[in-house]
Amino acid sequence: MGPRAGETGAEPPRVTAARLGGAGVVGLALSFVDNAGIARVKGVPIARLADAAEQGVGMSPVFDTFLVDDSTTQGRWLGGPDGDLRLFPDLGRAVALAAQPGWAWAPADRYHQDGRPYAACQRQFAARTVARAAGHGLRLLAAYEVEWTVRREDGSLPTGGPAYGLHRLTDLSDYLRDLLTALDEQGLAVQQLHPEYAPGQFEVSVAAEDPVAAADTTVLVRHTVRAVSAAHGLRASFAPAVAPGGVGNGAHLHVSLWREGRNLLTGGPGRHGLREEGEAFLAGVLAELPALLAIGAPSPASYLRLVPSHWAGAHHCWGPENREAALRLVPGLPGRPETANAEVKCFDGAANPYLAVGAVIAAGLAGIEAGAVLPEEVGGDPSDRPGVPRLPQSLPESLAAFAASEVLREALGEVAHDTFAAVRRAEAQLLAGLDPEALIDATRWRY
Ligand code: GLU
Ligand code: MG
Repeated sequence: MGPRAGETGAEPPRVTAARLGGAGVVGLALSFVDNAGIARVKGVPIARLADAAEQGVGMSPVFDTFLVDDSTTQGRWLGGPDGDLRLFPDLGRAVALAAQPGWAWAPADRYHQDGRPYAACQRQFAARTVARAAGHGLRLLAAYEVEWTVRREDGSLPTGGPAYGLHRLTDLSDYLRDLLTALDEQGLAVQQLHPEYAPGQFEVSVAAEDPVAAADTTVLVRHTVRAVSAAHGLRASFAPAVAPGGVGNGAHLHVSLWREGRNLLTGGPGRHGLREEGEAFLAGVLAELPALLAIGAPSPASYLRLVPSHWAGAHHCWGPENREAALRLVPGLPGRPETANAEVKCFDGAANPYLAVGAVIAAGLAGIEAGAVLPEEVGGDPSDRPGVPRLPQSLPESLAAFAASEVLREALGEVAHDTFAAVRRAEAQLLAGLDPEALIDATRWRY
């Protein structure tokens, strides 16, 4: 069998197994992220690694119909107890986990037992959209920011330091040092680590990379944050909302678009240096944002976070360096065109990062195909500007836009589109009528 869709490594599985085994690894965790935005896992002893890489590991397709509370729903194509899939680790991303001695991790792609790609595999969806872009001569770089809030086991705050406060670095100095060390030992290119706005909130940002790798990286960053937190008697929440009325956890997605080594978001004749194709890509993303929200802000709790004046991007607009715009253009730094990118701010940590990046690329490609142009930009807080529309304010609203989006239906394919919508509908029903406190309680520790 040749290389599979998302496979990145060249090293033979037996060499990887020997290398990891030699480093004291006894178990490999293979994870994928389901339609509820939850990373699910199968573990194999290291002695089985080569076998797992060649034959895959069994796992039921029922997980694609799991909800945030581990109950299941039924889609038109998927759901129920029948069938089995093979999980193939991408050993190119296999890494010994610095904060979990004895364990290694690799992201997995899912295939049918007969070797056919599984239509609802989120990681392969992301890889397919990247390949589609490559077919047009386009390359993408992407990165997710990771925001989380920490609490002690008893729920109390381990730091009372102010927003962005140096104070928080002294309160949690060892924790944050261990986190930086672990991320670095795993080969992750951390750009920044800083306290965020909400009580006990922090953020890690990493360097941009291939979109599938960016989604893998965010899974690994979060897993590492969780492990280091546990080692320090802390719990990390990546949930969209952690306190009623408070600032929540975003999972902002940064993307840049390249042709022949040139960043299409800078150096052109358009507004803020946008080149024509770069603008069309962003216009495509902006146009699909209400539908993209079902993927990027997929929980009923997402809409507790997505409110104006919380830097969450609640308005349907774009603007250069505008932290209230759902789509923030980050023009390149002078003399550094590689830094120009766009940030999808309205996405949060309940999103499946593979679906989110794949869907954004698909929307951008649709914009290019249509020769779309961006509307007028918005500066300042759109709440103060009458006429700037809000994005959907509830999951049923964004789900209606998702159901109507031909761009996303076509990109995902019927099976993935239907199953994802079924899970979102069921979650909307499951959590309907809960007050903010109860909704937060139901989601706080799930992601
Ligand atoms: N925590 C904010 C959010 O919910 C984002 C703050 C920032 O701009 O980084 O997205
Ligand atoms: Mg932030």
